[in-house]
Amino acid sequence: MTAGLDVSHVLAAQQTIAGHVSRTPLLASEPLSAAAGTPVHLKHEQLQITGAFKLRGATNALLNLSEAERERGVIAVSTGNHGRGLAHAARQLGLRAVICMSTLVPDNKIAAIRALGAEIHIAGASQDEAEQEATRLIEAEGLTYIPPFDHRDVIAGQGTIGLELVEDLPELATVIVPLSGGGLLGGIALAVRAARPDAQIIGVTMKRGAAMHASLQAGKPVPVTETRTLADSLGGGIGLDNRHTFALIRDLVDQVVLLEEDEIAEGIRHAYRKEGVVLEGAAAVTIAAVLSNAIRPAGPTALVLSGRNIDISTHHEIVGNSSP
Ligand SMILES: *Cc1c(COP(=O)(O)O)cnc(C)c1O
Repeated sequence: MTAGLDVSHVLAAQQTIAGHVSRTPLLASEPLSAAAGTPVHLKHEQLQITGAFKLRGATNALLNLSEAERERGVIAVSTGNHGRGLAHAARQLGLRAVICMSTLVPDNKIAAIRALGAEIHIAGASQDEAEQEATRLIEAEGLTYIPPFDHRDVIAGQGTIGLELVEDLPELATVIVPLSGGGLLGGIALAVRAARPDAQIIGVTMKRGAAMHASLQAGKPVPVTETRTLADSLGGGIGLDNRHTFALIRDLVDQVVLLEEDEIAEGIRHAYRKEGVVLEGAAAVTIAAVLSNAIRPAGPTALVLSGRNIDISTHHEIVGNSSP
């Protein structure tokens, strides 16, 4: 039991979300196996409905609400993959979903979430002000707030990826996972530790604004300054009042690796040219960590590819450039 969670919560989530999310493939990568000198497999979670794994946690959280909570609906402050996942899951289950965002959010992002059937609530000139508006709506309308990572059902939902990894690769020895708030890595660690106690469990994130890494160093959650990064889905803090993910990562994860922007770009290029997949920067960090030798994986290894939602002109720019 770590942070009040264990593998039984992940197993329960697997039952709960079955039929609502895709079971994504784990495929061997010839080029990465050759580069690493050990068998490397890719978990193609970028193929998940909505283009990212966040649908798993959002679906599990919604299916665990009480009947009264379901009737009132849910709310989140996210213009990224969590907002998309929650909007899609809510529509599938026939729930009202409100997504709050600031006036700074570009039209294309608003349109993408509206197309998934969510109500958009635009308020305030910053993320903080959008959060204040969400707090007001929660009180006024009885909506339930669904956070992107620091929530038991969200973590358990993301952890179902770990169960699938061990089912598909029973001899799994190393697992490499993108890390931001730690819902994905924490959930996967719960599942993998239970089945493979000696596995190496490694998180990867960008050097710019690595909140979980800074917090582990400090021994408690600390704020970080946000900077632009190719791995934009890995930005943001872990919450100074973090309840679950900080302890999970601290207690279950062996190592956290930090990458430079040019290394992340190389991961995106490799994914496109050698593996034939479009990845966003946050997902390409696992490939980048192996290519750059930041990690030398031992034994059968799985890399989690977490999402594909990258601005397409940014992607063109990166894959069009020749490798250094
Ligand atoms: C949210 C997200 C992550 C990080 O997940 P955490 O649970 O916050 O660590 C990684 N990759 C993608 C594509 C994401 O959307």
